[in-house]
Amino acid sequence: MGIKKVDKIWVDGALVDWDDATDHMLTHTLHYGLGVFEGIRAYKREDGRTAVFRLTEHIDRLFESAHICTLEVRHTRQEVIDACVEILRVNKLTSAYLRPLIYLGSGALGLGSMEPPVRTVVAAFEWGAYLGDDGLTKGIRCKVSAFRRGAVDSIMSKGKICGQYTTSILAKRDAIKSGYDEAIMLDGNGLVTEGTGENIFMVKDGVIRTPPKSASILAGITRETVMTLAEQLGYDLREEQFTRDQLWTADEIFLTGTAAEVTPVRELDDRRVGSGEPGPVTRRIQDHFFSIVKGADDAHNDWLTYI
Ligand code: PMP
Repeated sequence: MGIKKVDKIWVDGALVDWDDATDHMLTHTLHYGLGVFEGIRAYKREDGRTAVFRLTEHIDRLFESAHICTLEVRHTRQEVIDACVEILRVNKLTSAYLRPLIYLGSGALGLGSMEPPVRTVVAAFEWGAYLGDDGLTKGIRCKVSAFRRGAVDSIMSKGKICGQYTTSILAKRDAIKSGYDEAIMLDGNGLVTEGTGENIFMVKDGVIRTPPKSASILAGITRETVMTLAEQLGYDLREEQFTRDQLWTADEIFLTGTAAEVTPVRELDDRRVGSGEPGPVTRRIQDHFFSIVKGADDAHNDWLTYI
């Protein structure tokens, strides 16, 4: 899915024309991957207004990721929040995906070199359903990957760090080449962690489970949103690790993420999940999620930044 060009990209505090927002071939992060990023969605709501979903939480995580990576950001959180709002307005986007990125520019290539400047970019563009409209309504087919999610003492999974996505991309490409939509990764002990760009939930006998933050997972903002909504809906929700065969025998499975939103899984490792169709718990949570992020439900106005 190609990116639809817009007018401007915010680069280090200035609005730069789309075609001029480029960097040198010897950019440090391009070679080694020490950079951090976010994925944020702005939705056009039922009342016609545009709101960014959980903008503050995403920018907080961006700065935490930078802190994990010892990147000294040259802008304040508020400046980056303002940049997100400005880039939507200036490009006249009403429904969009925002991509803030903090990375090391060019000037030196040594692994320990401190010379490359820490640069901050915020781009925005239109992006539809990440796992497809059909995926959202009918569910997707997943495969447990042979690629393991790195151990918590080797990859810093609480950071959304550029270089860490190599494993995710290998797992995703492998799944797609084998005819699946998405890969699910286990950790070194064989316990389920998450998708390549999504957190995972399973439902069994009315109990919803998702791996805890101490597992090798990104602490997803959609994960936290869904946990809050599920508890408000009265579900028994537990943060617990589980195995591949617990997933095979689950009544329902769904994935959550800013890009993936709430996507049901209808098949895993060529085994039907539950009835083979999105189950009632998934449906209810998905409906509730969409009514909060873009519908008429304003019970969580504190999660919305209006443009
Ligand atoms: N896990 C990984 C590895 C991800 O890349 C993402 C997407 N940011 C998620 C989980 C979901 O996080 P969020 O809900 O904050 O988008």
